[in-house]
Amino acid sequence: MITMCCVCRRTKSGKSCVKKRMAKDAGRTSHGYCPECYQVTMERFRIDYLARQLQVPEHAAVN
Ligand SMILES: [Zn+2]
Repeated sequence: MITMCCVCRRTKSGKSCVKKRMAKDAGRTSHGYCPECYQVTMERFRIDYLARQLQVPEHAAVN
């Protein structure tokens, strides 16, 4: 089975990360994240989460 990174579209079969070439083999392709994009995505989630925490208007609900 081939795992394709849904961010950079690199496919990972076995040990090596190969550039996308077998898009037609989508039947056996599962989408996920390669380690690099996983880290980037997690970092974005974290930043987004922190940004939301800062924006919670607990004291701003004054009308
Ligand atoms: Zn990737």
